[in-house]
Amino acid sequence: MNKIELLAPAGDLQRCKTAIRYGADAVFIGGKKFSLRSRASNFDIDAIKEAVAFANEYQAAIHVTVNIIPHNEDFDGLKEYLKTLEEIGVTAVIIASPTYIKLCKEVAPKLEVHLSTQMNTLNSAAIEEYIAWGVDRIVLARECSMEMIKDITAKSKKPIEAFIHGGMCSNFSGRCTLSNVMTLRDANRGGCAQSCRWKYHLYQEDVELSDEEVLFSMSSKDLQASYFIKDMIDANVASLKIEGRMKSNYYIATVVKTYRKLIDEIYREKDISQERLDYYQNEFSKAENRLTCTGFLGGIPDEHAHLYDVNGSGVTHEFIGYILDYDADSQRAKVEVRNYFLLNDTLEVFGPSIDNQRFVASDIIDEEGQIVEVCNRPMSIVYINTPFPVAQHDMIRRVIK
Ligand code: SF4
Repeated sequence: MNKIELLAPAGDLQRCKTAIRYGADAVFIGGKKFSLRSRASNFDIDAIKEAVAFANEYQAAIHVTVNIIPHNEDFDGLKEYLKTLEEIGVTAVIIASPTYIKLCKEVAPKLEVHLSTQMNTLNSAAIEEYIAWGVDRIVLARECSMEMIKDITAKSKKPIEAFIHGGMCSNFSGRCTLSNVMTLRDANRGGCAQSCRWKYHLYQEDVELSDEEVLFSMSSKDLQASYFIKDMIDANVASLKIEGRMKSNYYIATVVKTYRKLIDEIYREKDISQERLDYYQNEFSKAENRLTCTGFLGGIPDEHAHLYDVNGSGVTHEFIGYILDYDADSQRAKVEVRNYFLLNDTLEVFGPSIDNQRFVASDIIDEEGQIVEVCNRPMSIVYINTPFPVAQHDMIRRVIK
């Protein structure tokens, strides 16, 4: 049996490389056309080529989203685009349109077609039909419970991919026109303005029900499914998907690394204790700035899965910089500063091949060798003495709670 795939999002090349370095088996990215979140994508063909070459070095795969709900004008250049993706070695395209699937099978048959979650797949009969269309993998709707996922996976002749982490829609995923109506930005063609997350004055007739201080919001809490990973593995799910192509490089590193370690531990130990699950839960809080829930996995979510008035979760750590290099003789890390921190702050290093290591930053110098007490210039370089070796691509965060 193949080991379950950890599939991470990336909005640009930097995040794609980070996701792979920090343990993703595959990364999904969007091109500048035909993709949801296309406004945020930095992947032109050259960038996709570079992502594929980098992924190949790590035996990882690149999946490209081609998942808009197309209008007539959304076919111009599509065939050429799919052929190019095939030629440059992309593994799979994620598609939400039957016509796009048919076209892809005709012009780029080596590309795997993964049926996008935009198709809201919730049952085995639909999957049989999609397989007849030529689909190679089905990404389930986020609205599936764990019991449904087990049943669907047992009956499916093709691999099943399930969401484990990231944003949820307060409407049925992909069947929402809030953004279209309120901003003229089409949620199903890459333009969702996340209108559900805005703050609203809530009225019943003329009486304002919302608090002046804390306005009303309709946002769902984010999904965080660490407690269900063992069930997913046991159910033979092929791929675990993290959502969030708009998320930061630090967030991607933290979330991917945490799931990588959790998955590997379950395979190694054959089980996972409550204590270890709590540990992993705590790791997510080092980057997760929104409250989380288990979505539909445990059944229909109740009011506790929604954010009616608060958004923040009280993140416990703050990203402060990238380690660019390490000098073993002086035991100093060369750090590119990204956020404010002070001499004698407690910092934590983590990275592709280093587990969390804490230390007190009691010795920081600048490029002229002068002692630094306040690091408050983003992109400046400082040299920090660390009581253990670190490496390029490790990251540093400040303990704030
Ligand atoms: S507005 Fe909110 S609920 Fe609607 S598609 Fe966007 S994120 Fe989902």
